[in-house]
Parts: sequence; C-alpha cells; structure tokens
Amino acid sequence: MEDNFFIRSENFSIFTVNFMETNISNLTVKKTNLPKKFPKESELGFGVHFTDHMFVWDYSPDTGWVEPTIQPYSSVLVEPGCVVFHYSQAVFDGLKSFLGVDGKIRLFRVKDYFNRFNRSSAGLCIPQFDADEVIDYLKELLIIEKEWHPSSIGTSIYIRPLIVARDNLLGVKSSKTFSMFIVLSPVGAYYAEGFSPVKILVEEEHSRTAPGGLGDLKTPANYAASLFSTERAKSKGFTQVLWLDAVEKKWIEEVGTMNIFFRIGDELITPPLEGTILPGITRDSIIKIAKREKFKVTERRISIDEVYEAHAKGTLKEIFGSGTAAVVSPVGKLSYRGKMITINNNEIGEWSQYLYDIITSMHYGKSEDVYGWTSIVE
Ligand SMILES: *Cc1c(COP(=O)(O)O)cnc(C)c1O
Repeated sequence: MEDNFFIRSENFSIFTVNFMETNISNLTVKKTNLPKKFPKESELGFGVHFTDHMFVWDYSPDTGWVEPTIQPYSSVLVEPGCVVFHYSQAVFDGLKSFLGVDGKIRLFRVKDYFNRFNRSSAGLCIPQFDADEVIDYLKELLIIEKEWHPSSIGTSIYIRPLIVARDNLLGVKSSKTFSMFIVLSPVGAYYAEGFSPVKILVEEEHSRTAPGGLGDLKTPANYAASLFSTERAKSKGFTQVLWLDAVEKKWIEEVGTMNIFFRIGDELITPPLEGTILPGITRDSIIKIAKREKFKVTERRISIDEVYEAHAKGTLKEIFGSGTAAVVSPVGKLSYRGKMITINNNEIGEWSQYLYDIITSMHYGKSEDVYGWTSIVE
C-alpha cells in the first residue's frame, strides 16, 4: 500500500523542513525554512493565496487514517491514472477562521462543518474520520499560520478541507486509498465597498442536481455540473444562476453555490432540505437566529411563479443568498423568461443587513455568542 501514497512534498521540493514539537502526540509537523512573502491585505482576493503549510492525512483499508502531518504547502505528485481525475471521487468543505477584535482567532460552528464533511464522504464511499481529531489538527495548523491571519474586519482565513481518491485505476469502482488535505487561504473582505446586490438569471434548461443525486453533498461533481449554466449566465451579464428543481422546473432550490431566502411581507421563506439542496451552515444559522429573534421563518417549497406574483403585488421585500464566503448576498435583479424584476430598489434589504451584522459580529468576537457557535483557537 505504501508505494501508492502520494509522494510527500519534501521528496522533490527545494525547501528543507524543521521538525517541530507539538502538544498533539501523533501529529508530525515539518516547518518550511522557505516562508513565502505575505500578500498585501488589500489585495487578497478570494482563494488565490495559500499559506506556508498544509495538513495531509492518508488512508488505506489496512492502516485506517495514518500519519497526520503538517508540512510545507506544495505540489503533490500523482499519476494520471488516479481515480479522482477520472470519476470525481472527492469531497470538500469550506469554513473560515477570524481574527477577532480581542486578537483571538475564532472558528464558527467548526464541528458542524466537519460533520457535514463526514456526511458528504459517506455519500461518496469515502471512509469516515474522527471530526474532533481533525479539528485538533486544524487548530494546530492555524496556530502555526497565525502570522498569515489578515486582521481587518471582513477578512479571514478560508479553510478548505478536501479528500480525494488516490488509487490508480481505470475501472469504475470506489478507490481503496484516500488522502485528506487542509489548505488555508487568507481572503479579503467579501464586500470591500459595501454590499452590492447581484443580478441573477433563472436557469430553465439545465439542473445542478436531481432527486436521488448528489445535491446535498459537497462534492466536485455538482460544481462541474453547474459550470456551463453559470458561464453562460455570466456571458449575458448576470452574476449567477437561480436553480430550479430538475423535475417540474418550478420550485426554487439554490442561487449559484448558496442557499436562498425570500422575504415576502413579514415572512422569511427558504426551500426545505429534501435532498437536492446543500444543507448550508449559514442557512441553518439564519433560521436559528430568526427563530430566536422571533422573525417568522418558514422552510417550505416556493415556486418561481410565487416570487413573481409577490413582486407584482408589492409584497416581495428581499431576496438573498446565504453561504460561508459572503454570509449574506442580496439579490438586486432577477430575470425569468425574459422578464427582469428589481428587488428592494436594487438595495440591501433591512433583514439581510440585520442578519449579516449579527453573524459577522459573532465571527469577530464583537458580540456575545449566545448560540455557543464560536470556538477560540488561540
Ligand atoms: C457550501 C454551499 C452552500 C452554503 O453552505 P454554507 O455552509 O452556508 O457555506 C450552499 N449551496 C451549495 C451548493 C454549497 O456548495
């Protein structure tokens, strides 16, 4: 089995590594002696820069998950026959750490993200891992990369855990060996110039997923399925697409790679999790906040016709997407069958702003965390 493992970076990279002591007994830490230059905080962008180190963990049926290692961020050597390239047997997740106003690094609902990562894995025949154990390794990685943490409000470190199938095999079957990586990317404020409502095209031809498919799992195949529609919408001047259900092409599911909320009158509506929708942590946070704050929030099916009717009646107050990257992303314009509607005068809605402020102030330790969602790394 051993020779099937990815060749670890130090075997072919120019840097040398210094072993470091940690409090976690089974974790090997190899620190680079060739640190990169930090990017400028104003030029971070999203997912463009990677920090100096990454976490790697390998799995084989004989050994289970073995040799958790933090090592210099580098290329990995794989053969073109590797299963993940051919059949997309992989899962990922995405969360953030925030440098708070008190100088502490915080994670938000970290266990929920790693539980979802395990849930996605199960759907792709990828072996389960111990979520608490990985979170310990992640925290160690964040401490090692502390200097990389951008500090202004709105910035964060985007954490991308992924697991890929690693067998070299062209027969269509589940791989036996896997590797987990966690890479870190310092990211800029999503709304550097304040909220900007987006322009959305309702996709009527293609589907992101279908009942019985992989829509509720964070797996690369879903994103591959979305590229054509998204690029086509962008070429027509839209930011993203609105996905309808695959069967009736009527029920609203998601917006781009975000969950979606509608405020009609004084009710907040979001489509229910019936298998084709990714169970967003931000979606769940918004529902819980809304319930606690006594907003009326309903998980129910909502059709594109209902949205247009509400707009015609003047009761459609706000539409927004929810997700880790932007937290809340207001929809300013929506186009369906050639008819474009403008929502809330193309401005950020009252509830969107309120929910955004509540969540982000928890991220940066600016308000008390009454939900117990944040954990301090250091
Ligand atoms: C990740 C993701 C979301 C949002 O989930 P969060 O946990 O809130 O980041 C929504 N839809 C899709 C398709 C996603 O991949």
